[in-house]
Amino acid sequence: MSRAASPVIDAPRAGLVVARHRRDFLVDDLAGERHRCLAGRRDIRPVVGDRVEFVTARPGESGRIERVAERENCLERIDSRGRSEALAANLTQLLVIVAPEPAPDLLVVDRYLCAARLLGLRSSLVLNKCDLASVEQVRAGLQREYANIGCEVLSASAAEGHGLAAIEATLAGQVTSFMGQSGVGKSSLINRLVPAANQSVGEVSEKSGEGRHTTTTAVAHRLANGGLVVDFPGVRGYSPPLPEPALMQSGFAEIAALAGDCRFANCLHVEEPGCAVKHAIAAGTISARRYASYRQLLLMSQRLATPRAGRRRD
Ligand code: GDP
Ligand code: ZN
Repeated sequence: MSRAASPVIDAPRAGLVVARHRRDFLVDDLAGERHRCLAGRRDIRPVVGDRVEFVTARPGESGRIERVAERENCLERIDSRGRSEALAANLTQLLVIVAPEPAPDLLVVDRYLCAARLLGLRSSLVLNKCDLASVEQVRAGLQREYANIGCEVLSASAAEGHGLAAIEATLAGQVTSFMGQSGVGKSSLINRLVPAANQSVGEVSEKSGEGRHTTTTAVAHRLANGGLVVDFPGVRGYSPPLPEPALMQSGFAEIAALAGDCRFANCLHVEEPGCAVKHAIAAGTISARRYASYRQLLLMSQRLATPRAGRRRD
């Protein structure tokens, strides 16, 4: 077949980015048909979850993403060079997965929950591997720390298929990303909840022409109940960026709720007099351990805010 000099290009169409592998994208149009696309310009950097306008050329050729709609939110991570990298847009929910093994690092859990709150996302905890004998103690600890701040703790076993219905109910109609330390069972849970998960990842790898074994950066799996699960199979070790110090308290529901009662409007709840948060800790009404996470993340954020402190020569 001879090739025309200028391809016939359709009018721009609305779509949703459902997979990304570097600069290759899969975009679902409104009818649910899937199109392979490239970003139309260098300054267009779509991520999974982005609502876009795209054009298609001939069948079998890549379409082009021409425009990315304004995002409601954008989940980012700190990459190995300490820079922020956009991972997914327009999420509505974060599920934080923990397990008895590896033992939960609650500072990491608090950092995810803090990031979720700052992005305006719902969040819940899922305690996976509840087939293990050591689970009861871990469950009791999580309930103690999180139930009273409005964070539901679900139990599941990806290995034995338990607790999946409750997770499915939580995912219905939401755009959810799973977070958690490596080894807690995120992929195992996703494979249980999305039986076609491996297939759709294979599809983007294949279509990007780099073979089946290349890792997709991010992929959104559609659930039968209308939810989307956004997975990052290529991302190892996820750390959300830290907010600036004054904003950190907004990521901790119980601290934010008390901040209005502190003597100083700009109280960071560290050493200031008349601090309602410190009073609540002394009275035992909020968790001292959660507060310790707040202090640690605040310190990390303050160090970032003054990267050259102590190194000045003048
Ligand atoms: P990820 O790193 O969070 O994606 O974790 P994986 O899904 O790769 O699972 C890590 C390990 O935990 C694997 O050896 C899984 O077989 C195991 N695993 C996952 N879910 C369960 C579970 O519910 N119970 C038990 N006992 N092991 C599990
Ligand atoms: Zn205070």
